[in-house]
Amino acid sequence: MTTPLLSVKHLTVAYSIRRNLFGKVLRSLEAVKNVSFDLYPGETLGIVGESGCGKSTLSKAIMQLLEPASGEIRYKEMVLGHLTTEQSMQLKREIQIVFQDPYGSLNPQMKVGEAIMEVAYVHHLAKGHDARKQMCLEILQKVGLSEAYFDRYPHQLSGGQRQRIGIARALILNPHLLVCDESVSALDVSVQAQVLNLFNALKQELGLSYIFISHDLSVVHYMCDRILVMKEGEIVEQGTIDQIFESPQHPYTKQLMQSYYARDTFRIQENLPGAGK
Ligand code: ADP
Ligand code: MG
Repeated sequence: MTTPLLSVKHLTVAYSIRRNLFGKVLRSLEAVKNVSFDLYPGETLGIVGESGCGKSTLSKAIMQLLEPASGEIRYKEMVLGHLTTEQSMQLKREIQIVFQDPYGSLNPQMKVGEAIMEVAYVHHLAKGHDARKQMCLEILQKVGLSEAYFDRYPHQLSGGQRQRIGIARALILNPHLLVCDESVSALDVSVQAQVLNLFNALKQELGLSYIFISHDLSVVHYMCDRILVMKEGEIVEQGTIDQIFESPQHPYTKQLMQSYYARDTFRIQENLPGAGK
């Protein structure tokens, strides 16, 4: 059997929500509770569940942005929290995240080409401006934008184009795992489909694995191989797309599926390529 790319075991992540005068934690909130799952190379693993159930907290722990209260996150042969500086940097390149709103992370004064090159610069990727520019132009092409976009400013782009810049900033680091946290949620449905298809094309071309977080079950159905269903910080059920959509076991999953079939079927058939497969 293949080894998982990512293996999460009994992970609990908590926020300190009240401290006393001396910084001692008086109250904490466990946003992720005893979560365990594996992600295999080449897989797209979906995480679903309503707002506040802990999806982003889980992804932040995987990105080394939050320290777990307990449990283990293993990426390849490395265990988070026990990394050398070099391994930690390697992880920060190999695991990238694409957020819902790339506008928030783009400096409005900076041309998008510079914004992409900046990432390469920070990670010491290519020597010199010309080499970085070359890298940037190649990445722009990969995300379906012409060289002309190098000199544009964020406000001159559409939502879908901005999201492509967000993807380009992730891709320039040559990641192995891409975490998409509601990456298409802010886009119009037709633009969503284009960006989802880009994700799938990149997966083939670059051999990426994905963690695909979305509250939108039609998107998850279209993209994912397997799904984790989260509720109040816990995984209540996990399984393949067919298992979760055709024969959900947990009452919460059943409820999600009922409202999904009642509400979204029309939309899926109308708008997403390959939907209703
Ligand atoms: P989701 O991404 O599924 O919407 P989050 O992981 O963002 O959920 O949040 C999970 C829980 O943790 C929620 O109850 C949220 O209010 C809480 N939370 C998120 N971020 C913080 C924070 N920085 N400090 C305290 N509580 C937080
Ligand atoms: Mg979130």
